[in-house]
Amino acid sequence: MATVLIIGAGGVGRVVTHKCVMNSETFTKIVLASRRLESCKAIADELPVGAVAIEQVNADSVEETAALIKKVKADIVINVALPYQDLSIMDACTLTGVDYLDTANYEHPDEAKFEYKEQWGRDAAFKQAGIMGLLGSGFDPGATNVFCAYAQKHYFDEIHTIDILDCNAGDHGYPFATNFNPEINLREVSAKGRYWEEGEWIETDPMQIHMSWDYPEIGPKESYLLYHEEMESLVKHIKGLKRIRFFMTFGESYLTHMKCLENVGMLGIEPVEHQGQKIVPIEFLRTLLPDPASLGPRTKGKTNIGIVAEGLKDGKKRKVYIYQVKDHEACYAEVKSQGVSYTTGVPAMIGAKLMLEKKWYEKGVWNMEQFDPDPFMDEMNAQGLPWKVQELDA
Ligand code: NDP
Repeated sequence: MATVLIIGAGGVGRVVTHKCVMNSETFTKIVLASRRLESCKAIADELPVGAVAIEQVNADSVEETAALIKKVKADIVINVALPYQDLSIMDACTLTGVDYLDTANYEHPDEAKFEYKEQWGRDAAFKQAGIMGLLGSGFDPGATNVFCAYAQKHYFDEIHTIDILDCNAGDHGYPFATNFNPEINLREVSAKGRYWEEGEWIETDPMQIHMSWDYPEIGPKESYLLYHEEMESLVKHIKGLKRIRFFMTFGESYLTHMKCLENVGMLGIEPVEHQGQKIVPIEFLRTLLPDPASLGPRTKGKTNIGIVAEGLKDGKKRKVYIYQVKDHEACYAEVKSQGVSYTTGVPAMIGAKLMLEKKWYEKGVWNMEQFDPDPFMDEMNAQGLPWKVQELDA
């Protein structure tokens, strides 16, 4: 018997809500809350009458969020609003003594910079409140962290290098659109690249380092080195690591549009004066671009996200590729959402399920790779994200 409060009725929130309803033996009461009640209603209307209760909340307010947590008597909060709300929702959980989970690390709205510092900084408060916080329970971060822990547990004595490889080969038919929140997506992609080697972070120009990778069930795709948040926790938790990098695929059309928008200032996060009004260019751009949720019925093709780890087992070199392939149209048929939201929302539900079942439970603030990967990997197979392991030539 557990009540889950899902905050954020966007693309990922839709998937989490559908998946919690499919796991109603664990999530016996489901409440979906968001800034706008109509976003919640649109999702609740897709599900059987009475399966989901809806509420309005401004999660930027700790007090308002805490009041809602108390009102619905939540046992766990799944935060799938925006990374800007992470700290206020975490503080509301501390105030009310309720467990917390999210899928993206805190980003300050005015700084275009994301890091775990402030969330990790809440570890003592979580321990004192007797609650658990699970950070980054999406796909990347999320499943990719678990893949690293699984490789560590079953395939290596020591992992020396990890490449995280994220390919979305979906085609939505628009010249330019983003698969999740455009503001978050474009801020991430247009930022400088960064990877970690021999204890140091090495910065690159945006898109400076790239390679072609042959993604199973998709084929070769140009993949670009980006900074991605799971690296910050993995360098702390994977022993013996010497290098970690993150690569994501982008099509030519996406990159050309993004460069052009950047050159004319449309990715700016500082307000500009326009006819007596202040507007933030990237927020205005978000208004112009297709809503990621509307891409669902139009997107064809597959995603493939995985990790390649190299290291030593019994004194011998070893190279292992763990990956998951998902078909966009299959996702839409199941939960009315495209693959990027699906592959994020399912791990969020799985993380919450393991916490409620106490299979993953420890007071304080944790990253995914700190827990036993096996129950999570089993749930991925059972909940629509089957994965594969391939041995590569070391
Ligand atoms: P959307 O923009 O589609 O949805 C975000 C939702 O949050 C919206 O419905 C919005 O509300 C709601 N929201 C925004 N501000 C507030 C607020 N102050 N109070 C309450 N609700 C608010 O984003 P996505 O669903 O694509 O992404 C959700 C999260 O998942 C993001 O943090 C994103 O970074 C993360 N993500 C993680 C991935 C991973 O693999 N780890 C991959 C993809 C995304 P409303 O509609 O009511 O206005």
